[in-house]
Amino acid sequence: MNTDFLKDRVVVIMGLGVFGGGVDTAKFAARFAKKVIVTDKGDDKKLAGSIKELRQFKNIEFHIGGHQISDFTDSDIIIVNPAVDEANEYIDAAKSKNKIITSQMEIFFRLCPAKIAAITGSNGKSTTTALTAHLLKNYKNGNVWLSGNIGNRPLLETLDQIKPSDIVVLEISSFQLEQLARIKKSPCIGCITNIAPNHLDRHKTMENYCAAKENILRFQNKDDAAVLNAYDPKCIEWYEKYKNKGRKCFLFDREKLDSRLTDVFKLPGKANRENLAAAVTIAHFFGLKDEDLIDSVASFTSLPHRLQLVGTVNGVRYYNDSIATTPESTVVAIEAFSEPKILIAGGYDKGLPFDAMAKAISGKLKALILIGVTADKIEESIRKTGIVPPIHREKTFADAVSKAKELSAPGDVVLMSPACASYDMFVNFVQRGNIFADLVAKLK
Ligand code: ADP
Repeated sequence: MNTDFLKDRVVVIMGLGVFGGGVDTAKFAARFAKKVIVTDKGDDKKLAGSIKELRQFKNIEFHIGGHQISDFTDSDIIIVNPAVDEANEYIDAAKSKNKIITSQMEIFFRLCPAKIAAITGSNGKSTTTALTAHLLKNYKNGNVWLSGNIGNRPLLETLDQIKPSDIVVLEISSFQLEQLARIKKSPCIGCITNIAPNHLDRHKTMENYCAAKENILRFQNKDDAAVLNAYDPKCIEWYEKYKNKGRKCFLFDREKLDSRLTDVFKLPGKANRENLAAAVTIAHFFGLKDEDLIDSVASFTSLPHRLQLVGTVNGVRYYNDSIATTPESTVVAIEAFSEPKILIAGGYDKGLPFDAMAKAISGKLKALILIGVTADKIEESIRKTGIVPPIHREKTFADAVSKAKELSAPGDVVLMSPACASYDMFVNFVQRGNIFADLVAKLK
């Protein structure tokens, strides 16, 4: 691993954050650089956990609570957290002094000796990434490493252990792909699950967002492969484009999966079959056959808070879909089940409209239990559709779960898929999902 580019250098980490990426990058830089300056706009309190992890490094300085231009003009290398929009005065100042601007992902791609299978998309990234790594555990030629928003294995810290014969399965965001384009590199496998408007507050236009996603394919060579969704118009466009350039391109198709795989797959719904089709296509690329995959498809269970089965009580299955913080994701959840459904929805008001969701789901519910700040708005949208299931209002989450039990019959599905963020009643969606799972466990 050639880390000479850090030797004797002063490195600035712009954006420490609380999700581990900044810590991983700072630790790595501290191992090889002369001095590391970690700077973040956030306050000490918010960043306390991340700072604590780095205290042991004597060559790390913390400039927290704001950035200083001099850090950017007087150091050698700036490593920018993907959560930071690079269109800012500090990066401009660094560029004006010809400083090196880079990111965790660029460093990883430069130094990783193994093949990288990277997965991006607007929805289903984490599930597809975890599922792909799970299917590849039968890969015989080397180890398989997983890195994504799930599991949170530090990327750079792992580098020492990764061998050329290994495979790294990596979830990658549009922000990280934007940075990666700077070194004109794409992964060995570039998989795009789907494209829908997302993060437009930062990308500004859909065109920019798509251009960022396309970086996963842009610099691939002839031995690499694009793995794209057969039902997504943008993916089909890219399939044609890169096929015409002589690249290996595969369309994954949820309708063409081997029935031996779909029969044993536990995750509900069409969207999850799409994720499975993507993962299977990647496994095929690495030489695995459908018959090699049956057992691992069967043993894969939902990631926490994503249509996760958290209990079966009196023949009623309870699903935690706490990650569904938008109306569209709740529609995906409802469409995943053919059984009679009792939906628990509502939460913090992000100002999103519920009319389209109401149209898509109102005729498909046995009952609707509403909680939280958005209860009125959701009820109003449901009533407008003219097809109104029984609606129950509950004050507490515990009451909502008890009501669901009272209303359900064997064979039903109770789905907590709120269509809203959780901040009115919970710290975050993880806490909401965990509390739901606890309440379901108590029903037994
Ligand atoms: P991401 O990492 O892109 O946020 P996840 O795998 O964490 O995606 O899934 C989040 C939620 O998105 C799931 O609970 C599900 O409702 C929905 N979802 C999952 N896969 C897909 C897909 N292929 N298409 C549309 N929605 C999906």
